[in-house]
Amino acid sequence: MNILLASSEAAPLAKTGGLADVCGALPKALAQLGHEVALIMPAYRSTKKYPSEPTGVELRVWIAGREVRGTYRKCQIPEIGVPVYLVEHDMYFDRDGLYNNNNEDYADNCERFVFFSYAVMEAVRLLNIPVDILHLNDWQTGLIPALLSIYYRDYPEYQKIATLYTIHNIAYQGVYPASAMALTGLHWKYFNWLQMECYDHLNLLKTGIVFSDGITTVSPNYAREITGNPGGCGLEDVLRSRRDVLWGITNGIDMDEWNPETDPHLDTHFNLETRTEGKLECKLALQKQMDLPQRTDVPVIGLVGRLTEQKGFDLAVELIYQKVAAGEDVQWVLLGSGDPILENRLRELAAHNPQNVAVSIRYSNELAHQIIAGSDMFLMPSRFEPCGLTQLYSFRYGTIPVVHSTGGLVDTVTDLTPETEKDGTATGIRFSHADMEGITWGVNQALDVYRNRPELWKKMQDTGMNLDISWRQSAEKYVELYEKIRRHQPRQ
Ligand code: ADP
Repeated sequence: MNILLASSEAAPLAKTGGLADVCGALPKALAQLGHEVALIMPAYRSTKKYPSEPTGVELRVWIAGREVRGTYRKCQIPEIGVPVYLVEHDMYFDRDGLYNNNNEDYADNCERFVFFSYAVMEAVRLLNIPVDILHLNDWQTGLIPALLSIYYRDYPEYQKIATLYTIHNIAYQGVYPASAMALTGLHWKYFNWLQMECYDHLNLLKTGIVFSDGITTVSPNYAREITGNPGGCGLEDVLRSRRDVLWGITNGIDMDEWNPETDPHLDTHFNLETRTEGKLECKLALQKQMDLPQRTDVPVIGLVGRLTEQKGFDLAVELIYQKVAAGEDVQWVLLGSGDPILENRLRELAAHNPQNVAVSIRYSNELAHQIIAGSDMFLMPSRFEPCGLTQLYSFRYGTIPVVHSTGGLVDTVTDLTPETEKDGTATGIRFSHADMEGITWGVNQALDVYRNRPELWKKMQDTGMNLDISWRQSAEKYVELYEKIRRHQPRQ
């Protein structure tokens, strides 16, 4: 099959979160199953440090009565393993951030991704990319299935294309004032509650949901949650109306990037056999790096993530204050950036508790690896979590996830219960409510097992480290769906 994946980010070329991890790793896994795969994304500033060649092909798009020109570059890097087409338009994409700067969204985001959407459609004919499946991701590509069915379907290159639309996080919908409809170049008749309109606004995620042949999200449990309230964030009705073509496929991980035996960000490497000593070395290195007292006998709890309400860092901050006030012997290492108020709360927390708490407010892939390797537990108090990747990375490094029972965390973390203890399947601790009671219970439970039941702790580490969480299985599921939607398209 010929698969073209369009995404607004893909690791390592450009990344703000899990979307990039998925779109950076899935193409390679699909190619390994024998398919012809290419990726297309914007040529952001961060992509420019990777080698690429001009294609010499120019595109012209009309946006609100103006002709906008761009070009395509082609980039081939081993990490992604398939050709990557970069849509170049420096005024739109050569900026400090991908979608925002200093926490403020770029005012022209709608226009930028309308342009990108047309650029994807035009790439098919201008670059002669054979496409059976156009795999789209998140709101930034939501216009594409509409463009295909309204403008492009009649041309021979486009007739056989089926679209799969993956929702990585329904909280981000690409919502713009009705006037932004003019940017899309589509007739106002599509601005109605069954198609592109949602509460009087243009909604690009909804557009993608309505016009694509199939829809996936990144875990089966999240697929269920988004058809209800509050999980659907206002789009539950439209998702219910498309329930027959909505599926959940749990993300895999890049087993090469997240491999404790070869991780270039670690000084000490380890595997299943050597993990006890290896993890202790990583813990000491992490403590040193973060200016915490270097002690092997204290449990270290790590957190890494975007500082948004979603991730529940505010609950963690509250818990840490309580634990420190109670004199509990635990070290905490937090890495994240985002909401400036939360950033300051974290800084203050660390400043007041230098013996127990270390905080780094930035984006650092290297430190993320070191925290996941050097911590004993990894805390995820997410209020919602479509799939979550860091708990999967934690499994690989023998770090026990302590998570809120939501979204993909339910599908991926097997909670410690008397039954799962007995049959040896437990891989972590799940708590039922994202509130102080829940997080306190979860962390206490984990600390209790860590301190008092070392054999059980080791068993849970073993089980997690032995899990097959590679992309292969997930890629096979995507291929099954691609075949299914090909049989059913074109949609009327
Ligand atoms: P989301 O996509 O909601 O941000 P995921 O768990 O799916 O959450 O993926 C988050 C990805 O981003 C992980 O690879 C995680 O390590 C990374 N990440 C998030 N914040 C940071 C940070 N401050 N520094 C380094 N990596 C980060």
